Formats: sequence, C-alpha cells, structure tokens
Amino acid sequence: MTQETEAKAKAGAVIIPVTPFEQNCMLLWCEATKKAVVIDPGGDVPKIQDAIKQSNVNVEKIWLTHGHIDHVGGAAELRDALKVPIEGPHIADKFLLDNVVTSGARFGMSGVRDFAPDRWLNEGDQVSIGELSFAILHCPGHSPGSVVFFSKAMRFAHVGDVLFNGSVGRSDIPGGDHATLIKSITKKLLPLGDDVGFICGHGPGSSIGQERMTNPFLTGAM
Ligand SMILES: [Zn+2]
Ligand SMILES: [Zn+2]
Repeated sequence: MTQETEAKAKAGAVIIPVTPFEQNCMLLWCEATKKAVVIDPGGDVPKIQDAIKQSNVNVEKIWLTHGHIDHVGGAAELRDALKVPIEGPHIADKFLLDNVVTSGARFGMSGVRDFAPDRWLNEGDQVSIGELSFAILHCPGHSPGSVVFFSKAMRFAHVGDVLFNGSVGRSDIPGGDHATLIKSITKKLLPLGDDVGFICGHGPGSSIGQERMTNPFLTGAM
C-alpha cells in the first residue's frame, strides 16, 4: 500500500445539495477520529444536521470557501447549533459577510444573518480536522476573498466557485474580475498537479488534469 492510498482511506465525505442554487455543501471527516467539518453550509440547516446524524461523526468546525449567500447562508445558524468555530474565507470577502441579510432578501432566502468568522484565512495557512490537514490557497477573481482547501496527502482540493467541471466561476458580480480569476487558476490550481481531484461549489467535481486539457476557459477556446 502506498502512502497515498493509505491517506485516501483516512477520509470520508458526503455532499448535501443546499439552497435553490444546488450548492454542494460538504460534510468531510477523518475516518480515524470521526472528527468532521462542514464546508459551505449555504442553507437548509436541518438537512445538513440530518446528514451529520446519519454519518455518525462529530462536527468540530465550519469552513467557508467564500462569502456568497449560497455558501454562507446557514453558517451562523449552524455555528450556534453545533457550538463550533467558523474558519474562512479570506478577509477580502468581509463586505459579503456583512451583507448576508441584504443578499438573502434579493434571492428570497429568509432567516439568514450577517456574521464574522472566528478565523480569517490567508495564503499559506493550514487548517485541520482530526488527522487531515489542508493548505489554504487565496484564489481571488470569483470573489476577492475566495480560498481553496488543498490536501497534498489526499491529492484532493475543495475549490469553491473558482473552477468548475468544464467552466470557471462567474466574475460579473461585485468584487469579481475575470482576468484575476484565470490568473488564480493558472498560477495556483494548475500547478497542484493533474492527478489532484476536486469538488466544486456546484455540479460534478473533476480533476486538475481534466480541466487543464479540456476546460475551454483554460485551453484558450474561450
Ligand atoms: Zn460564489
Ligand atoms: Zn456558489
């Protein structure tokens, strides 16, 4: 058994689609300790709590990839319910977390709250859950404070709305910038390696290699 397959066997995960945007809320845990993290609890908190119960894990943290409503709408409520800290995103998304109620109203999402995380994340930071650890990559462009969670040992990343299977994040919303986004992807994500698999905020995941070779936004076709 190689070191990599051992590392892979150490994690478990389920995806919980939440909000009208079908956002991929992720419950991720360390198999050895059953300690878990909820990534991007955008809403539908009771549905997330059901998934936690069914998985029989202990959630100790909430991680946020960026400040958009479909990723953070349930964060304050879940933090209160579970009494766990929120880590992320980068402080450049503070203006979004300060206006969760306003953007919720725009999309008909009630019961949401403005909030501050317990820890902002920066390029080069490490976050951990149980025996799993992730490096933080600051990847602005979709939003100024977007971060990517990368596990070198598991060859896995959670890229939020930075990169998608066959597409890239929108940059036409306040704080977005397409050139900055493409730079984040080419300078920070592609160098992670073709074998790195990823989960993204919407739709099916992919791998860095698959996107490097076929994503029209990266091959120059668009
Ligand atoms: Zn987004
Ligand atoms: Zn999203």
